Amino acid sequence: MKKVLVLGAGQLARMMSLAGAPLNIDVIAYDVNSENIVHPLTQNVLGHGLDSAIAQCDVITAEFEHIPHNILDICEKSGKFLPTTAAIKAGGDRRLEKALLDTAGVKNARYTVIQSREDLNTAIEHVGVPMVLKSALGGYDGKGQWRLKTAADADLIWPEMAQCIAATPTQAIVAEEFVPFDREVSLVGVRSKNGDVAVYPLAENVHTDGVLSLSTAIHCPELQQQANNMFTAVANSLDYVGVLALEFFDVQGQLLVNEIAPRVHNSGHWTQQGAETCQFENHLRAVCGLPLGSTDLIRHTAMINILGEDTLPEALLAMAGCHIHWYGKEKRAGRKMGHINVCADSSSQLESRLASLAESLNPHSFPALQQYRH
Ligand code: ATP
Ligand code: MG
Ligand code: MG
Repeated sequence: MKKVLVLGAGQLARMMSLAGAPLNIDVIAYDVNSENIVHPLTQNVLGHGLDSAIAQCDVITAEFEHIPHNILDICEKSGKFLPTTAAIKAGGDRRLEKALLDTAGVKNARYTVIQSREDLNTAIEHVGVPMVLKSALGGYDGKGQWRLKTAADADLIWPEMAQCIAATPTQAIVAEEFVPFDREVSLVGVRSKNGDVAVYPLAENVHTDGVLSLSTAIHCPELQQQANNMFTAVANSLDYVGVLALEFFDVQGQLLVNEIAPRVHNSGHWTQQGAETCQFENHLRAVCGLPLGSTDLIRHTAMINILGEDTLPEALLAMAGCHIHWYGKEKRAGRKMGHINVCADSSSQLESRLASLAESLNPHSFPALQQYRH
């Protein structure tokens, strides 16, 4: 039995725990806020303190990138941490992330870093408008972002940005060109200790108000090839071990990396039903030094996030191809409470199943299903 400690005790640790059980991999989670060691399924407290958590486990990994660096440094010293603390730090700081992408030779949106009102003028000059501004630290689900449509609006958005910069000592804003993308896709893949790489089929993603709402596995050989090459470049440059996700903008058939996530990813949840080996199991296999599992697609699958709802019609469980995954979290408006994986034997059957689902669900909580409503 291997024991894996996950930094973070949310749904990703929970799903790692579920995937690890059949392989005799025991997952415990360190809640960075309470400093408790908890069971990822029950949230029962198993102990307290990072040192004791580290002593108990064979491997340490993470379910999110916004981890205080002092914690990462302690984990690094233990020699047990994977994928690598450098990857987690890059995922949590858009400045490091951009530098990493540039070093790996991977295309990404043009940008500059802003710390003052004068810097914003420079950004308008060099990056141009429209522009997307993102806090370098702490951003997720579209939080800590601004849109600048015309240079004349700079004074309107600056006060909020200045406040954001002032609130955290090492904070800054990354000013990025607005990318007129046709769609967003992401690649989830895994790299093993001996450098083997396996990737899942691309997922096409729909975001609503900055939050992922729908993710569908797609078959698109040209884009897949571009994505695979960029994945391998980034993963190899970090000597990465585990699951890594790359988010892309598809601009007329050319992929541009939006951001990376050094962990299992929401756009890979479809693999629980749609792939031979799910992303959670493959992450555990990689960090435990085991052979990777096949990433082949076994069924057409889409994933729908359940946002801000803690109950669904029971009839959904009777729908063919419909699989519900709750996270056991307390209900809050807009919160990711669970997801639904919908599987089918063909893409047209998948479409019709999504259409039936769209009829049974509250449009407010499932905005991405709007396109499937008649
Ligand atoms: P996540 O929860 O995925 O980590 P995040 O808060 O880190 O989200 P991003 O992924 O950078 O934010 O941006 C959120 C969404 O905003 C993107 O999925 C995309 O729809 C849009 N977006 C971000 N950057 C740009 C850009 N440069 N041009 C156009 N749209 C953008
Ligand atoms: Mg992000
Ligand atoms: Mg994103």
